[in-house]
Amino acid sequence: MKQLVEMEMIESSIMEEVLSQVESYDYNQYTVGDVHYVLTKEQLTKEDFGILLSPVALECLEDMAQRSKAQTLKYFGNAISLFTPLYIANYCENHCVYCGFNCKNKIKRGKLTLEEIDREMQTIAETGLKEILILTGESRVQSDVDYIGEAIKLARKYFSTIGIEIYPLNTDEYTYLQECGADFVSVYQETYNQATYKEMHLSGPKRNFAYRFTAQERALKGGMRGVAFGALLGLDDFRKDAFAAGLHAYYIQQKYPQAEIAFSVPRLRPYINQAENNPRDVHEPQLLQVMLAYRLFLPFAGITISTRENQKFRDNVVGMIATKISGGVKVGVGGHEEEQKGDEQFEISDPRSVEEIQKMLKQRGLQPVYTDYIRV
Ligand code: SF4
Repeated sequence: MKQLVEMEMIESSIMEEVLSQVESYDYNQYTVGDVHYVLTKEQLTKEDFGILLSPVALECLEDMAQRSKAQTLKYFGNAISLFTPLYIANYCENHCVYCGFNCKNKIKRGKLTLEEIDREMQTIAETGLKEILILTGESRVQSDVDYIGEAIKLARKYFSTIGIEIYPLNTDEYTYLQECGADFVSVYQETYNQATYKEMHLSGPKRNFAYRFTAQERALKGGMRGVAFGALLGLDDFRKDAFAAGLHAYYIQQKYPQAEIAFSVPRLRPYINQAENNPRDVHEPQLLQVMLAYRLFLPFAGITISTRENQKFRDNVVGMIATKISGGVKVGVGGHEEEQKGDEQFEISDPRSVEEIQKMLKQRGLQPVYTDYIRV
């Protein structure tokens, strides 16, 4: 398929809507009484969501957690989906100051051949996993759409659910990858503060805030089954960024009711040549608060808990908030079967295997789910 270089801009009012509401979001105006009132409601409004993200809501985490557990059980039962990411390349054209793959960082770069991808996938599939997330870094030159399409076709041999976390595409490119077999697209806005966004993304196509913001809509128009949202907590005011990511998902759900919606909640992590990269004021209670607020606002949304977080935290949030967890994670290029061909994106905190994650879930009375989708 021919590489398109022109960024397609679609008509959408969602960005304007989200940004104007975030602009006027004043989380210091709320009281503990407001939080308690929200927790009595069956259905939450956008303002209620903002209340749950406010500093005073930190005093109510226990109540929020109980409500969250009930909601998670109601919508998902005790089922927890398992998956693993596979980085097939780590080339990137962007200079994001917080990421180990940034084009200025001197790391070992690599890209798997199709034969290597096949062997990696076969090894992953032998662990029992049926869902995979394919990642590339963001280089249209090194990891073009054809290459990603071929990787997805290979994944179809082994997996029933295929997600992609790559650079944002135009609608027809998403259609092509959906036809190759991709189901889900994750694009994280990182921060919704446009000024900070410019400071964090010093060069590369990612500097185009609007093209990134509208990626989920293009993916859904292109035929994808679901899309994931997230802000990288710690880059800017995490309360505003979490509020924005929640509203972004909410408006997409309103406009595309058929879409499966999911969140990731990444925090900053150290990476090669940048050991000081920390999530500033987003400690575990704040991270928990954000996750709880997402669950209570959009109870049907999938929420993934990343290996950026430690074992104890991950174990505590599965079932209560998170509905998807990764195991056997490698964040360098390859490394499951082949020797790792490129350096890691960030440091992980939970290196447990798929088997260990499965055991933990069972011990907690949860049901590990490898697939809920049979491809025909
Ligand atoms: S965050 Fe994504 S786009 Fe930015 S440097 Fe890392 S891989 Fe590249």
